[in-house]
Amino acid sequence: MIIGSHVSYNAKEGLLGSVKEALSYKANSFMFYTGAPQNTKRNPIDKNLTNQAFIEMEKNGIDKNNVIVHAPYIINLANKEKEEFSIQFLKQEIKRVEELGFNKLVLHPGSHVGVGTKEGIKQIIHALNNVITKEQSVVILIETMAGKGSECGKTFDEIKEIIDNVKFPDKIGVCMDTCHIHDAGYDISNFDDILTEFDKKIGLYKLQCIHINDSKNDINTHKDRHENIGFGKIGFDNLLKVINHEKLKSVPKILETPYIGLEDDSKERLFPPYKFEIEMIKNKKWDSNLYKKIREYYK
Ligand code: FE
Ligand code: FE
Ligand code: ZN
Repeated sequence: MIIGSHVSYNAKEGLLGSVKEALSYKANSFMFYTGAPQNTKRNPIDKNLTNQAFIEMEKNGIDKNNVIVHAPYIINLANKEKEEFSIQFLKQEIKRVEELGFNKLVLHPGSHVGVGTKEGIKQIIHALNNVITKEQSVVILIETMAGKGSECGKTFDEIKEIIDNVKFPDKIGVCMDTCHIHDAGYDISNFDDILTEFDKKIGLYKLQCIHINDSKNDINTHKDRHENIGFGKIGFDNLLKVINHEKLKSVPKILETPYIGLEDDSKERLFPPYKFEIEMIKNKKWDSNLYKKIREYYK
């Protein structure tokens, strides 16, 4: 099982901090942003910390191919007005991923902000064709979106449209997010049907990362609010089937579930749930005391 979570990355500890955090969750995979996702401030990469991180990864069986970088969500390739900025910043981000030594960059396709999905997707294709080079070693994994607001990429058809029209389709893959596809209307209790459709339209080999999240909302509500594993509307058994699916063995599974407050709904002192969620997933048994366990461990 290749499983991990979103982890932090900061200037002081660099990649080494991210690896240590992943190991503390007993993960063999992880995902991070190379800086704050909502701004453009990026620190230079510390070579020494990166080298140390790779030594730790090697020692602990984390394959670099199972490490994912998430592009900042201020990039919006679907918005023509932000085109220049988005293209430049995504180019830079690809360079940073290469410099760090990884090869997978997850990208939200973008929101069309009023011009309609069709135009938005045209713009995404145009922008990607200005970003992607034949030489790059990084594959951009387009994330399946919930369809919140004017998000593009909420159906496999929309993502297929993008892949079919870029100059270098071998530089594009897909990251499937379980919360997002559920919110977009895909019924995860029939996951085999979902995979069959994905394979027919896009090709299963394109699926190179899966975000494992439960959802706070009902199917087809386009809300995009993640929930802890087994505490939402998708449910533990359905998520477990995705995680342990025969055909997805080699695909990294990444948790992006919410941090837990000291009390329900408290926004102060939030603790990461990942160590305990990963344990629960490995045990294949849902734990109704998850929140209690997390609070006791961290407080
Ligand atoms: Fe994402
Ligand atoms: Fe996601
Ligand atoms: Zn989301």
